Amino acid sequence: MNKKDLLRERFSSKPERYYEVETFREKGYERKRCKCGRWFWTLDPERDTCPDSTCQRYDFLGNPPTSRRLSYVDSWRTIEDFFVKNGHTSIERYPVLCRWFPSLYFTAASIVAFYRQEHGHVSFEMPANPLIIPQRCLRFVDIPNVGVTGRHYTGFVMIGQHSINDGKNGYWKDECVAYDQELLEGPLGIPEEKIVWMEDVWVGPSAFGASLEYYVDGLELGNAVFTEFLGTPDNYVRMKQPVIDMGAGLERFAWLSQGTPSGYEAVFGDLVKKMKAESGIDYDEDLFLSYSRLAGSMDYSEVVDISRVKADIARQLGLEVEQLEVAVRPFEAIYAIADHVGSLTYAIADGGLPSNVGGGYNLRVILRRALAFIDEFQFPFDLVDVSTWYAEQMYPMSPELKERLPEISRILEVEERRYRSALARARRRVSTLLRKRSSFDTDELTRLYESEGITPELIQEAARREGKKVELPTDFYSRTTGRHMKPQEEAEEKRITGIEDLPATELGFYRDDKKMEFEAKVLRILPGGLVVLDRTYFYPRSGGEEPDHGTMNGSRVVDVDKVSNIVIHKVENPSFREGEVVHCTIDWERRRQLTVHHTATHIVNAACREVLGQHIWQAGAFKDVDLARLDVTHYERIEPDQLRRIEELSNQIISRGIPVHKEFMQRGEAEAKFGFRLYQGGAPPGRVIRVVNIEGVDVEACGGTHLDNTREAGLLIILRSERIQDGICRLEFAAGNAALRRLREKRDLLSEACGILRVEEDKLPSTVKRFFEEWKRRGKQIERLRSSLSKLLAERLEERSWRFRSLEAITEIIDETDPEVVSAVAQGLCRDNRVVVLIARDRSEDRAYVATAAGSKAVSAGINAGEMARTVSKKLGGGGGGKPNIGRGAGRCLDCESALEAAREVILGVQR
Ligand SMILES: [Zn+2]
Ligand SMILES: [Zn+2]
Repeated sequence: MNKKDLLRERFSSKPERYYEVETFREKGYERKRCKCGRWFWTLDPERDTCPDSTCQRYDFLGNPPTSRRLSYVDSWRTIEDFFVKNGHTSIERYPVLCRWFPSLYFTAASIVAFYRQEHGHVSFEMPANPLIIPQRCLRFVDIPNVGVTGRHYTGFVMIGQHSINDGKNGYWKDECVAYDQELLEGPLGIPEEKIVWMEDVWVGPSAFGASLEYYVDGLELGNAVFTEFLGTPDNYVRMKQPVIDMGAGLERFAWLSQGTPSGYEAVFGDLVKKMKAESGIDYDEDLFLSYSRLAGSMDYSEVVDISRVKADIARQLGLEVEQLEVAVRPFEAIYAIADHVGSLTYAIADGGLPSNVGGGYNLRVILRRALAFIDEFQFPFDLVDVSTWYAEQMYPMSPELKERLPEISRILEVEERRYRSALARARRRVSTLLRKRSSFDTDELTRLYESEGITPELIQEAARREGKKVELPTDFYSRTTGRHMKPQEEAEEKRITGIEDLPATELGFYRDDKKMEFEAKVLRILPGGLVVLDRTYFYPRSGGEEPDHGTMNGSRVVDVDKVSNIVIHKVENPSFREGEVVHCTIDWERRRQLTVHHTATHIVNAACREVLGQHIWQAGAFKDVDLARLDVTHYERIEPDQLRRIEELSNQIISRGIPVHKEFMQRGEAEAKFGFRLYQGGAPPGRVIRVVNIEGVDVEACGGTHLDNTREAGLLIILRSERIQDGICRLEFAAGNAALRRLREKRDLLSEACGILRVEEDKLPSTVKRFFEEWKRRGKQIERLRSSLSKLLAERLEERSWRFRSLEAITEIIDETDPEVVSAVAQGLCRDNRVVVLIARDRSEDRAYVATAAGSKAVSAGINAGEMARTVSKKLGGGGGGKPNIGRGAGRCLDCESALEAAREVILGVQR
């Protein structure tokens, strides 16, 4: 028995402590045990099995138990109304890209919206208590099930009903279940005997508790988790303020109320209707209904051989497997496309980009899977069409999708182009592979996908085209997407010994960032001149900003770093002792330049967002004295005219003289005021964060040094930009004095170039162009001269050939200084039955060039031109080589006669 089962057993052995809530007592719920061993609560005296999918089929298909049919959006409105009327605050969804919690890429559950990192542990930041939230979530573990089972999605809304039981505002189990029961019976009008509660447990990495799942007609609607214990089931404490974490699938509510064959018709509604109509394929509703009843229990991740399950279903329906596939596969494809494009639309709207790395990998996987389906069935719509229809349909719930459509479409188009260009290559590769084999393992598929973008669907399609069948493992997606979903690597903790007992260094620069001189007490001096003070105004290296330099009692401070909360100064030959008070000065020019560059980085980031789009996020930054670097998320190379606009806009922001506010704020307050754009450089730990606000331009949580007004940056020039990895572009720029220095350097280069050509600056481009044209023209002339010269030389040498056996040879010494000409002559003289050996002397330079050539008959007679070139060059004190039919070499003007004689001997030797 695994840990979870053991815990469930433990809690179920004390039902009155963990599961029996007021609602059960009041209504007279009966606790029963299913043949499968699970405990559940029901009002139906007839029921003796639990509602889990292994024990009960869906009873609501074609026969919904709710009093009203509700669309997807209306399902949410109904639920929202109910909870708001009952004292809950309705919170807008958080982004699907989880910017506030460093170890997650995507928001995978409603409670994740409120997770915050706080110095090594998780805390909750709930903007209201209790609350209800329609949290859009992305999960990539069930990809092969999406479109097939009727209930799996990569993108879904988890309705979160959350409450912290703090003794004032929140509530606990009784109220939670009472609200959920009332929602089902009241606004949804579900008969009470259909509502079944199942006993379960939830075990997270550092907390756990009992939970009650609620089912109607075999469909699990929600799971109310009562997070009550901190730690693991073996070692825990009871939480002072336990948390209600009720998550319900909005998709399930819409499906239940409509009773459609699959959940996708209920969730995507008009969208899939339109896709079906556009593609003109027949939809047999009755067949689908009977198929869906059986397919509901399918799960690719649990069933090893899905084709066996399908065969089984076909048999029960009295169909051949092929008949069934023809009838259902196009619809499975349509549902998968609707889901995948929906997820992409939300992800891109929230600033996500398909790529090869991190979470972007999963987005590219579903994007390419959707494209493969479109290709396979030759659907007459593309990703942009589906995304546009989807955004339209979701408008009442998520108006932001429609607003971001131009950008979303652009990114989908770029990605589709990328896919198409990889496709032809991939198809050729697949058909070569298929010649040798008919099965692939997951490792090979992963390699094919990651290095060449070949999806399993593509392999299947190529195989179909060649009339072959291939075996593909079903765990490809769960394994590859899982591999890329590993938490982002956290920055390696800096470690240093000998300071564990010291208090945190007081950071003076946050109080006064103009202070250039100060006194402080030396707390410790470690080997290597590492000095710890009680307080400091030296800014340590952090947030990509290089550290301050300066002096400490006259000794130079050459580096400053921060290890957890202690600032370490590296001092050259410190001339003081522990306990002394030292006088420190800060290199103001350096600090000023770093400050200019840091503020400029925020400005360039804002300008990029304005010019390139809302998908721009900082992916990294570095601020030094000579230049600054900003890496941003972008789907293609930044074009030169875009760079120019970014530069222009940055300079406008500078010249408008915008105030820069720096203040410490409560994290929740800052998030509510500025949104998650704050977390450009990741989410800082702690309840209080420092906010750098360039009024109306950019707001970031940032601990760096900053100007008071953008005007102080003076001037900004962009030096260059490159695409450093898939989905990330780097911009290098300089601002303030560094920019002036760069301009001066450029001016000096310019005048130096003008000096060499003796022209005025404005004439430089035309002069350079003229010189370049001239140079090209001369190059061509030289080519022409070379060729006529070699022709002349060859004609003269033609008559000097001598015969040996059935072959001919030309072995000559000539005076020529251009090795290209010598080679051309040797080539020109070569015939099938001829071998040519030329030595060219350049007496003034004391150089000799060797060129050899042999025709095919000469080669088959045993002549090797390359060998010959080597032999002759060696005699001339140099080296050479080549192939049997051609050779080159060079040496000095030594005894050319005897070198040539050696060649003749080789030729004659071959004859013997
Ligand atoms: Zn059961
Ligand atoms: Zn910053």
